[in-house]
Amino acid sequence: MKIFTVSRVAGFMWLWLLSALVVTGAAPGPLQPEAARERMVLLRGQVAYHDELYYKKSAPAITDAAYDALKRELSVLEQQFPALVAGISPTDSLGDDRNGTFQLYRHRERMQSLAKSYTESELRGFNARLGRQLQRNDLVYIIEPKFDGLAVSVTYERGKLVRAVTRGNGIEGDDVTVNALTIADLPRELSAKAPDGSANPVPDVIELRGEIYLPWAEFKRINVEHEAAGEAPFAHPRNLAAGTLKLSDPREVAPRKLALVLYGWGAWLPSAGLPVSQRAFHAQVRAWGLPGLAGYSVGRSADEVWAAVQEFDRLRPGLAFPVDGAVVKLDAVVLRAEVGATEHAPRWATAYKFAPDRAETQLLAITVQVGRSGVLTPVAELSPVSLGGAVISRATLHNADEIARGDFRVGDFVYVEKAGEIIPAILGVNVARRAAASRPFQFPNACPSCQADVVRVADESAVRCPNLECSAQLRRRVQHFASEAGVEIEGLGPALIDALVTKALIRDLPDLYRLRRDDLIGLPGVVRRWRTGS
Ligand SMILES: [Zn+2]
Repeated sequence: MKIFTVSRVAGFMWLWLLSALVVTGAAPGPLQPEAARERMVLLRGQVAYHDELYYKKSAPAITDAAYDALKRELSVLEQQFPALVAGISPTDSLGDDRNGTFQLYRHRERMQSLAKSYTESELRGFNARLGRQLQRNDLVYIIEPKFDGLAVSVTYERGKLVRAVTRGNGIEGDDVTVNALTIADLPRELSAKAPDGSANPVPDVIELRGEIYLPWAEFKRINVEHEAAGEAPFAHPRNLAAGTLKLSDPREVAPRKLALVLYGWGAWLPSAGLPVSQRAFHAQVRAWGLPGLAGYSVGRSADEVWAAVQEFDRLRPGLAFPVDGAVVKLDAVVLRAEVGATEHAPRWATAYKFAPDRAETQLLAITVQVGRSGVLTPVAELSPVSLGGAVISRATLHNADEIARGDFRVGDFVYVEKAGEIIPAILGVNVARRAAASRPFQFPNACPSCQADVVRVADESAVRCPNLECSAQLRRRVQHFASEAGVEIEGLGPALIDALVTKALIRDLPDLYRLRRDDLIGLPGVVRRWRTGS
């Protein structure tokens, strides 16, 4: 039995401990410099670790809210103790999605990030600051949904698509052109005629900035296929979109219907063609036949901006695409130039992040399911709790590493989070409510179905049942085979499969074709179907 390799445990051990501390919200009081220094070292390690998982591996271990909380705490400490800021702080970085497997391409104009707001007063502060800076009280804002995907820059030269590049580190990114070409909405050529027939000149060079994402319907379709195969579902459409865009084979990218939305620009040559406003930009994008933004709001005061942001939050559950906030932008391009930018973000825009739905409930049990390829997937069985408009009684735990990292124990009170139609995830543990007698969860050493010793492949987080005759695996294989993703056998549902496997009528897939009428009579859901047919 090889569950963990030693180096892996050692490498992650301190991070698990830190995770538990930070995610469960040890509130930072006023710190002495020495304590602050220790805390900052700890937070930097955390942020760097989660940046790696998020940007390079597209597989984050904590929610965005928990990650943002880490970064904010670090940023507050850096402001309080500027002397303790050593080198480049992770709070200054935009993250970096370059993963070393693509050609790099340098953006003509830097791809910046957006400053973030989390509260109404921060949003009002943004408006007040711009008003002071520009000495005006008639500012007009555009409020756009903040798509939750992967930022890209798409370049057209003389109207022809030449390149799609990820943000990377903001200066250079991965050239993902071949994969982006699988996106149906992305035209190879800009339409030089507007829909009304008028001339619609194209710039010599334009870098269009936007987001590649997976619509909810596509995310659900992919997950239904995965679950039918007994595989752990993808937790978040953003990570699935990012992971898909970074696949090495475009033939694997194409079946997952990635989508694109364009909401900004970098280089625009000659600059005489620059739009005068964000509204004019959106109209121009549509006139060129590009995937523009379907809906945005206009706000003429802090009150109107706040109302529009709340309206997006209210509409969010009904939207066809994942949204994690609203972006507020100054409409007039000439005023943007006046306020300028910090090193990493323009001063004329802010991203307001919606708070996810969160609740505390008890972790009643951790059950372990066996997939068709033998992978053991733990599932959290929760005391039912109302969350995001649904009653939640299960949450995904991904794998043994995930449980160990969060130190989730049976009986714990845990924080559960759900945004939109995302599968509920466990954010952390309320350690204060932990029973004194609780023990860390022991991942099973044996397959819960066939009791074979499980194995762990080096460098994989998955633990597997190696027994090819394992009946749980067989059930999953048959389920997958009979599903829409397979050959679609009508009427061959879980109950019938269960009976066929239990009675040893099938030991492998080909046995399905050796079944005789007499084998089936009396099995669940079969009798009437056959009698009426004869
Ligand atoms: Zn087994």
